[in-house]
Amino acid sequence: MTHTAGGIEIPSIPAQAIGPTVPPSGYLVREIADGVHWVTDGGYQCAFVVCDDQVVAIDAPPSLGPLVTRAIRDVTGKPISHVLYTHSHGDHIGTVNQFPDDAVRIAQQETHTLLSEADDALRRPPDVTFRDSHRLEVGGQVIEMHYKGSNHAPGNSFIHLPRQRILMLVDVIYPGWVPFTNIAQSKDIRGFMAHHDHALSFDFDTMITGHLTRLGTRQDVKIQREYMHDIRTAARHALEITPEKRRLARETVGTDHIYLYFKTMYEAAAAEAAQPVIQKWSGRLGGVETLGVNHTLTMYHSLRLDENAEPHVVFFPPAEADHGHDH
Ligand SMILES: [Zn+2]
Repeated sequence: MTHTAGGIEIPSIPAQAIGPTVPPSGYLVREIADGVHWVTDGGYQCAFVVCDDQVVAIDAPPSLGPLVTRAIRDVTGKPISHVLYTHSHGDHIGTVNQFPDDAVRIAQQETHTLLSEADDALRRPPDVTFRDSHRLEVGGQVIEMHYKGSNHAPGNSFIHLPRQRILMLVDVIYPGWVPFTNIAQSKDIRGFMAHHDHALSFDFDTMITGHLTRLGTRQDVKIQREYMHDIRTAARHALEITPEKRRLARETVGTDHIYLYFKTMYEAAAAEAAQPVIQKWSGRLGGVETLGVNHTLTMYHSLRLDENAEPHVVFFPPAEADHGHDH
């Protein structure tokens, strides 16, 4: 189902992609369970944990900016003693400088490396780092951080509250929606894929995902895992139909403009191969009509580059060989 606005076709958004209404203040703050709160502006999310005598803050996206501190102060006047970074990206921790200088920053060691290189006063490198995991016990709360290898970004870590059965993982799972462009801009597509199973290995009921409209569940992780495996199947199909698309591209745009030739070939293969995925998921996951082809194309390049899945091909055959078959 679609409607048209300004000449642009807009696919309808499935009910399961719609979250709670954000009040006119611009943010919603809600306690999930026993001191663990999430804050959202309807597009970005962060969190904080209220302990006996202090607060542990997790991320501070610039889209919320000072509203993060305001949300914390709506709930408690206790001092902010610790700040956890899920990962290094500016769109999630770009305003952590709003927290007190003496609050202890904690993040994975890859995040420390990236933030040291970035040299950004708004994102101070963490004071405490860990390689595989870190357990923070403070004011009656237990907060665990775990790193399972590169995924969306190097250093991007799980934050687990075992007692409240809450898991936070940012920029990987998109409840009710397909992932963001280029498979959530992932640095490591295989790591991104593996993180569905890594997420499910934790004991949790509720997930804070850093984005979109609502909180997530285990079921959301399973649904996205199925969608992403469908994308992988589509990308394999795109590889199979590439020879046909390569001939077509040679006939239409030629090979002189090398970038146009490759763009035409790859985009035609991805667009055709994505169609069954779009049909299957339309009405079930928001955004599949908009990003299904993009995800197939991104996965296709991952198969080519990361998995050497493109067999020997002759991209520029001699003119007399350019009839019908490929190599
Ligand atoms: Zn990110």
